Amino acid sequence: MNLDFTPDEDAFREEARTWLAEHLPAGPRPPEGDEMRAFDLAWQRTLYDGGWAGINWPVEFGGRGLTDIQQMIWYEEFARAEPPFTLNNSCTFVGNNHGGPTLIVSGSDEQKAFHLPKILRGDVVWCQGFSEPGAGSDLASLSCRAEIDGDELVVNGQKIWTSYAHVADFQELLVRTDPSAPKHKGISWVICDMRTPGIEIREITTMSHVNDFCEVFYDDVRIPLTNVVGQINDGWRTAMSTLSFERGTAFMADQVELAAVVERLIDEARTRTGPDGRRAAIADDEIARRLATARAEVTALRAMTIAGISRVLRTGVPGPEGSMVRLFHGELHQRVYQLALDIIGADALRLTSIDGHGNWTGPYLQSFAYTIGGGTTDIQRNIVGERVLGLPRV
Ligand SMILES: Cc1cc2nc3c(=O)[nH]c(=O)nc-3n(C[C@H](O)[C@H](O)[C@H](O)COP(=O)(O)OP(=O)(O)OC[C@H]3O[C@@H](n4cnc5c(N)ncnc54)[C@H](O)[C@@H]3O)c2cc1C
Repeated sequence: MNLDFTPDEDAFREEARTWLAEHLPAGPRPPEGDEMRAFDLAWQRTLYDGGWAGINWPVEFGGRGLTDIQQMIWYEEFARAEPPFTLNNSCTFVGNNHGGPTLIVSGSDEQKAFHLPKILRGDVVWCQGFSEPGAGSDLASLSCRAEIDGDELVVNGQKIWTSYAHVADFQELLVRTDPSAPKHKGISWVICDMRTPGIEIREITTMSHVNDFCEVFYDDVRIPLTNVVGQINDGWRTAMSTLSFERGTAFMADQVELAAVVERLIDEARTRTGPDGRRAAIADDEIARRLATARAEVTALRAMTIAGISRVLRTGVPGPEGSMVRLFHGELHQRVYQLALDIIGADALRLTSIDGHGNWTGPYLQSFAYTIGGGTTDIQRNIVGERVLGLPRV
């Protein structure tokens, strides 16, 4: 594995750094609703106009056709520029990171021509309608039904934990189209227009007060059959490609940002009083040990990310090894934000954090989601055990 960057990649980094210095929006990012949507879409439009949207998307679909390494360099430069928001929280996340990429791989020519430019230009927000009250880790158990009626599907059922459904235009929706087939068969992946009659959206309040979660109810919602992505009843295959993007490269921005958080904490520990009430926090052996470990771990995470990208460049497909990165990243994210509260103490209630959540308690509470979303750590452990280590299924 070679961790050096090529001259082209170094030049790309310089180009990104210069552009970001001139174009990064002044914060803060509005935390909720239509204002948040407008802020995120305006930033996406700025990226598009500057030629920075879809860095690793193929040129034929409006991207720059560059590598995931260059995409990662962009994220590193974004984090280095101390932005007033994180990319991971953006309501453009699904469209850019797995909705659009799924259409590129599995969509029809018409679907690509209609949707991909809108995603890149920042015209639309996409959300993901996979999880249901009875189908999360065991996604194939989903029961939201769709019956074919002429040239339409008629959808009835419920989804839950749908991030940004309340501000979304389109949804990547999984429905059961053949209830008599085995559970991994008979599922279809469809594009749902969120303004279709019969859709009811209810927001869910979370402990971190980042209120982007929703329940979505479908009551005789009519979706044209032309919105099926891939083949009808073959949606599991399409969903696996969506999840491989989600578990492969979608969290790269957050992984990179974590390194910047650790450096900020080292600075905080130098100036804040430590647990003994006299010396700087960094003089405390336990705080210093945890900071040193965190710095080593974010460095290891970066190396694992680059190794994963190199593997995809060689093989062309994200492998199950992506689950090791997701697992390590999710648990490390939680350790870093716990450490942040231990260093910053009560000031965490008022001091602005690095990620635009407001004070530091926001990202700490939000960090609990990192071992659940996109597949829980238990599920990632199962994948690593069975598909990477070759252990028997339990
Ligand atoms: C921040 C965030 C954003 C999300 N956004 C979306 C979204 O936009 N769209 C969407 O569709 N979903 C979304 N989700 C939902 C997410 O995909 C599910 O929460 C996740 O898949 C787990 O499903 P569940 O909540 O039903 O938990 P369950 O599957 O019920 O799991 C409960 C517990 O049992 C454990 N468990 C379950 N099965 C096994 C097993 N086989 N082996 C070992 N342990 C097991 C789990 O690890 C967990 O600890 C989001 C979740 C979060 C936290």
